[in-house]
Amino acid sequence: MASRSRWPSTRSVLRLFNLLPSYNLSPLLHTVRHNGTVAAAAEVPESRKSPIQILRTAAEVRSWRREQLTKGLTVGLVPTMGALHTGHMRLVQSSMRMNDATMVSIFVNPSQFAPTEDLASYPRDFDADIEQLAAQDGDNRQVDVVFAPHVEEMYPNGIPLHIAEQKGAFVTVHGLSEQLEGRIRPQFFRGVATVVSKLLNIVTPERVYFGQKDIQQTVVVKRLVQDLCYGSVVHVVPTSRDANGLALSSRNAYLTEQTRQDAAVIYKGLQNAVMVYRQNTSAEKIIEAVVSTITEKFDKEEIEYVCVNDKDTLEELETVHPLKGAIVSLAVRVPNKFGGKTRLIDNILL
Ligand code: AMP
Repeated sequence: MASRSRWPSTRSVLRLFNLLPSYNLSPLLHTVRHNGTVAAAAEVPESRKSPIQILRTAAEVRSWRREQLTKGLTVGLVPTMGALHTGHMRLVQSSMRMNDATMVSIFVNPSQFAPTEDLASYPRDFDADIEQLAAQDGDNRQVDVVFAPHVEEMYPNGIPLHIAEQKGAFVTVHGLSEQLEGRIRPQFFRGVATVVSKLLNIVTPERVYFGQKDIQQTVVVKRLVQDLCYGSVVHVVPTSRDANGLALSSRNAYLTEQTRQDAAVIYKGLQNAVMVYRQNTSAEKIIEAVVSTITEKFDKEEIEYVCVNDKDTLEELETVHPLKGAIVSLAVRVPNKFGGKTRLIDNILL
């Protein structure tokens, strides 16, 4: 591996902390049993009176989809894991602009979490999500339908978190899933590609929306769609940020006020990467600029990686070709309000 990236000696992925409001947790903590293993998976609640139609099964979605087709209406799909924020809503707005009908899926996908990760404590607030989605846009339109399946609907044969125990059909996009985030989270993109395949098969949307915030995910999904001949067009929506530049993320809720402010250096570092690139196309110089900015507020050891990669192949670059550009991406472990660390990822295009 080229020496242009910065990797720490320890690459353990931090367990995040239990943030679930008591309101949501206890009645919903659900166990998935398979081959004697038990994976905790908190699920969305049954809808109370909802201002939006909520579908729970693939059969219901297919029936809704057939109706749209019969009426000649186009469908946009926005896949999410809930805990919605303005970044998610930008995707929703893009879909509403470009399609006759918009479906948002809310599903915390177990197969993309390693057993050591935060599946059970991933933030969930279904009612708040529905409220946001029900808010009408300037043209008095709202999201048409939410697909919020239970785990059994998406994984009818169970989904143990240990990959060695998983049986059945899974989807891997080889060559794009092993580097960057895939190095630290080896089963992450297999889980993402699998659940996105399921969603595309069930919904068959004209268009599907992903955020640039998770840029490797967009590269993986585009290749998935191309290689498995899905008919949906993938749209990538720019990253939404706090006023100080911090990329919005459901996990920012774990940060203290101070670290949330300090974390502004992450985007500042990425902007400095762009400035350096205007003078110098060496990946090493670009990475140095990012690292030196981030270390204004955080220890060097907390920077998991800063890498410069090709936009399509994710090949690690030593020099950026001005006609092709590149992705600068990074992960930093930032102190959180529980005395631990929260991983933040971000990127910028050169
Ligand atoms: P998640 O619920 O975290 O899986 O995210 C669902 C979708 O929203 C993914 O396509 C993300 O890339 C996208 N997303 C999350 N945060 C942001 C953000 N700050 N800006 C733009 N898109 C985002």
